[in-house]
Amino acid sequence: MVRFTVLASGSRGNCTVISGGRTRILVDAGLSCRELFRRMKLAGEDPATLDAIVITHEHQDHINGLAVTARKLGVPVYFSEATHRAWMRWLTPRRQMSYAQWLELCRKQAAERQGEPLELPDPVKAVDPIAVAASTEASDCDPEEPETEKPEKIDAECAADLSQPNSSATHSVSGPALATGDEAALKETMPTLKDEPTWLPSVEYFEAGKSFTIGDIALSPFTIPHDAADPVGFVLSAEGIRLGFATDLGYVTPNVKHQLRNLDLLLLESNHDLDMLRDGPYPWSVKQRVLSRVGHLSNEATCEFLTNSYDGQAAYVILAHLSENNNLPDLARVAAERALVDRATLLANRLLLAEQDQPLVPINF
Ligand SMILES: [Zn+2]
Ligand SMILES: [Zn+2]
Repeated sequence: MVRFTVLASGSRGNCTVISGGRTRILVDAGLSCRELFRRMKLAGEDPATLDAIVITHEHQDHINGLAVTARKLGVPVYFSEATHRAWMRWLTPRRQMSYAQWLELCRKQAAERQGEPLELPDPVKAVDPIAVAASTEASDCDPEEPETEKPEKIDAECAADLSQPNSSATHSVSGPALATGDEAALKETMPTLKDEPTWLPSVEYFEAGKSFTIGDIALSPFTIPHDAADPVGFVLSAEGIRLGFATDLGYVTPNVKHQLRNLDLLLLESNHDLDMLRDGPYPWSVKQRVLSRVGHLSNEATCEFLTNSYDGQAAYVILAHLSENNNLPDLARVAAERALVDRATLLANRLLLAEQDQPLVPINF
């Protein structure tokens, strides 16, 4: 059986569970580990049976719970290399200093070389790498995706639960001791984990345009236009069922149109209503980013795709990543219904809306 369960969709967190054959994967981990597990249980899914996490791009609403969840389960994480590097940069504080501070640092290093301890003036000591990093991270954020907690904080929250890693995962990727289910070994590794926020049990790289498999699920990643390092959508297939997955894209490229054919399920972004965005609360620069060719799909753009490019084959069409500030579920629904009016039947093009705050009903094939 193939099963598709959207746990959350929107600018405060994205996460979907896909099961096929004996394999179960998570696409994105934008909820905190605790909330992610809570929603999986609500949807009748057992977190301990997950085999891997696959990441579309490094924006916070897609990776916020990644490190904690991957460590807790001891499962591999699949990224593109550029996305993995961007995620690591996001987690690693970058120190910046003024020219005066740099001169002081040079003096200190010269003094140390000569064996003379030299007390640094306060401004240098006052450089808080984390605070500085926060100020440099704007480019890693999506305007539709607000600042959220970094994993270190969630780590502390979830540490109490960390005593039961997944011992039934069937993944074949080798990694350090976490996957063994050995509680003592896990506790031994805790100080290391705290020291290394970017540590993951195992990392696998994929490339857009090159299919790969995780157990019984085949994945075909394809490039989407979005302001991230190397963002992708996916077509996932198992047991002859094809699931298309595309959110966070500024427009539907010819290749995306090509990929989203012959599907049994299509999950597609319907992020904002153009008028609501134009009249809404965001600063003009942010509106420009959302509207840009590397921003998000509007209801109108999604409607245009469904009308003119979509082949009408899917049993289910799920609208996803709806903006809470610049959209209304009814506006997105009406636009898509208009596009599908002649094609919606009991067997095809059933329209659903993925939600931010609760899981969507699991879809079984
Ligand atoms: Zn994004
Ligand atoms: Zn997003």
